[in-house]
Amino acid sequence: MSVLLKMTELYAPTLKEDPVDAEVASHRLMLRAGMMRRAAAGIYTFLPLGWRSVHKVERIVREEMDRIGSQEVLMPIVQPAELWQQSGRWDVYGPELARLKDRQGREFCLGPTHEEIITATVRDELRSYRQLPVSLYQVNMKFRDEIRPRFGLLRGREFIMKDAYSFHATQESLQEHYEAMATAYGRICDRLGLAWRPVEADSGQIGGKVTTEFMALAESGEAALVYCDCGWAANVEAAEAVTAYSPKAQSAQPLERVETPEVKTIAELAAFLGVDAMHTVKTMAGRTASGGLVFLCIPGHRELNELKAARVVPELELLADEDFAAFAIHRGFLGPVGAPDATLIIADRTLKAELAWTVGANEPDAHLTGAMPGRDFAIDGWADLVTAEPGDACPACGEPLLAARGIEVSQVFQLGTKYSEAMDATFMDEAGAEHPFIMGCYGVGITRSLAAVIEQHHDEYGIAWPISVAPLEVAVVPLQTGDDVVEPVAARIAQALADAGVETIIDDRSERAGVKFADADLIGWPLQVVVGKRGVADGIVELKDRTTGERSTIPVEHAAAAVIDLVKRARAAFA
Ligand code: ATP
Ligand code: MG
Repeated sequence: MSVLLKMTELYAPTLKEDPVDAEVASHRLMLRAGMMRRAAAGIYTFLPLGWRSVHKVERIVREEMDRIGSQEVLMPIVQPAELWQQSGRWDVYGPELARLKDRQGREFCLGPTHEEIITATVRDELRSYRQLPVSLYQVNMKFRDEIRPRFGLLRGREFIMKDAYSFHATQESLQEHYEAMATAYGRICDRLGLAWRPVEADSGQIGGKVTTEFMALAESGEAALVYCDCGWAANVEAAEAVTAYSPKAQSAQPLERVETPEVKTIAELAAFLGVDAMHTVKTMAGRTASGGLVFLCIPGHRELNELKAARVVPELELLADEDFAAFAIHRGFLGPVGAPDATLIIADRTLKAELAWTVGANEPDAHLTGAMPGRDFAIDGWADLVTAEPGDACPACGEPLLAARGIEVSQVFQLGTKYSEAMDATFMDEAGAEHPFIMGCYGVGITRSLAAVIEQHHDEYGIAWPISVAPLEVAVVPLQTGDDVVEPVAARIAQALADAGVETIIDDRSERAGVKFADADLIGWPLQVVVGKRGVADGIVELKDRTTGERSTIPVEHAAAAVIDLVKRARAAFA
């Protein structure tokens, strides 16, 4: 289909100034280039250019899903509460799940993800091992009432996701499809022009254990990553911490009480005692699922990773300031010695190396030194509790880890039987026995991916699209409107491009050249053909490559053919 648009007809209200509340490039530039407008916090209207680019991302994603045999469906956004009650997530999802009632008072939610719906859809009709595996996907709007919607499309409340779900009779079958999905996700990132990295991740709300996130590398990314040149990489939320630790005590020590008036932080304690923060123990208090008290002990110089702690202590809640009194404990002076009866004590495994600990005394203004596990207190469990940091040893090869930031554009999960068991979704094996489906789920943030592309492809003048997601491929820019030489030449070139299937726009506005150039670079047309009076008199037009900034001249009569050729080659690089 040929696409030939005119700037005078295009609805793309560009802005000269940066919108005040847009903190990141993609948000700022999509607003300035007239690609979208805000309707409410985290909720946007896509204008023609933005929507064209969204479609391109979707098309690439669909092609890659079709390639691996996943079939497209469309599920409802409004979902009945019963299904979420069956899976058990109605009660645990929290305020991010937008709930509503119909006129009869029946409860519904806006789908933040679609495991429940898809499982309920297939469970009555997908019955035999002979029908498996099945992989279904959709491209649809999601709603999550995010606590902090920000950065435009990067963290919206309403956003477009491609989500896929697969059903298997065996773990091997799931593994095979999971790998095919991961390969497809890598290809999607490549075709979007993203610099990316697969990382080990935490499975969060979705559940399951085996999971990989695909991170577009960007300083503006919300995710902190650690990686190693050996190829290992992880989200710090999930990264195993291999902490370098040199113990202080080499032999048994006496337990001593030290008066530490007003010494509440680790930094203050280390300074007061004249020791390295590493040689103090930070104790944090939390509440267990049953309401009991738990102390989490970590080396003083490290940060507690709450996700890891919650894996050891399910439904862990760290105490808020006002909870301390209820447990009769003293903030700033906690420790494993003399903790209230029945306190569960979990310690970071790094501390196994330390013979004698410096800890809070569980009374105001006092600490203990020389506290020895086994002699002075008991540990109920050792675990990896701290957040990995650059400089820690790579869990795969031991070399020091490096840090990067990323935007999570997609994630693949092996769910196992979490949903099929909860929702009684089973199939019959060869022998006639019933088993829950073994499931996988896989998500690509369509709108977030688009924003990630801009985070990686922009400069001070605007967006510099990879051709695969640019709203249009070529702009023809006549410099003099109303000129009876320039206009027909520009129109002829534009028409020839469009006839050859190149998506083309002609800037037919009677604006100054400077305005046209500025808008062309702001919106980021990948190839710009500039037709000026002087050039045409010499038989040439100018060609500009938005990404490299390179300019070249081409004879007027070869212009269309040359540009068609360049477009074809650029497309091929992302095919
Ligand atoms: P995050 O950790 O960033 O909140 P998530 O892990 O909760 O994301 P998933 O449930 O894995 O997200 O959803 C699949 C994909 O949907 C994500 O990889 C991301 O690209 C996209 N996505 C998730 N939340 C948002 C959001 N608030 N705005 C835009 N895209 C999102
Ligand atoms: Mg995720």
